[in-house]
Amino acid sequence: MRTIPEIQQEIRRRKAETGVCILAHSYQSPDILEIADITGDSYKLSAAAGKTDAKKLLVCGVRFMAETAKLLNPEKQVYEANPAAGCPMAEQFSPEEILAEKAKYPGCAVVAYVNTTAAVKAVSDVCVTSSSAVQIVGNMQQKEILFIPDCNLGAYTQKQCPDKHLHFLSGGCPHHSSITPEEARAAKAAHPNALLLVHPECKPEISAMADYVGATSGILNFARKSEQKEFIIGTEISIVQHLTLECPEKRFYPLSNRLCCPDMRITSAADILRVLTEIADGTAQELTLPDETARAARHCLDEMLRLGG
Ligand code: SF4
Repeated sequence: MRTIPEIQQEIRRRKAETGVCILAHSYQSPDILEIADITGDSYKLSAAAGKTDAKKLLVCGVRFMAETAKLLNPEKQVYEANPAAGCPMAEQFSPEEILAEKAKYPGCAVVAYVNTTAAVKAVSDVCVTSSSAVQIVGNMQQKEILFIPDCNLGAYTQKQCPDKHLHFLSGGCPHHSSITPEEARAAKAAHPNALLLVHPECKPEISAMADYVGATSGILNFARKSEQKEFIIGTEISIVQHLTLECPEKRFYPLSNRLCCPDMRITSAADILRVLTEIADGTAQELTLPDETARAARHCLDEMLRLGG
């Protein structure tokens, strides 16, 4: 069996041969981040996917991220490193359920978190990421907004945009939203000198206890730049691992060991090598979207880039 460094070496050779650009979400494992061309949270990957010159993109993350890369690059070939990796939040509601909810609030705009399927984006007006939601909702003309699917990110956005009236569905990330105030209190008691940094996908009670609330990129930057030495990390547990490697002089603790997303863990370096090999021999399964869905969903993403500045 090949070792991880041997697989990484073969991936680099295959990348050079095929001209594939590898995009990897920050929650991926260190051996994947090491061989990726672009790494970051959903917003950074969305923005970078639209700018790269590569004609073939291989996405290491979950399905909606590959769909977003395809929507922003319809002329490019997009591949998923592991097609079994989905996001339970993205698939919580169907387009029909969103339209039925929208009908309850005449004149409202539908704001879709990027963690949605292309089909749900196609019935929405504008997309947001966790780092751009406040700015985009604040820049919108409409006051009445149906914010989907994450009610926790919606509640956080509502707090920052008090002149807007947000309506929610009861969706959210099953991992971030499962964290309880008792767990947060226990983590703070165990590490009294640590700052608590949390993702807005956590419940409002948890965000209210935090020293900093922000997207994954915001949490990473805050911890890197802070003069404090200890941090409790309230997002996917892989970020604890990445920060520990990157900032060995600081201490990082998970808010909860349950903050672990199996879908983000499913992709391996061996999966990446397999897809690169299939791309090289012409048998790889390209991600495709129906034309009408892609056109409407692309509008939703274009509005995100326009209102997000
Ligand atoms: S951590 Fe939550 S929101 Fe992110 S991919 Fe996993 S289930 Fe989806």
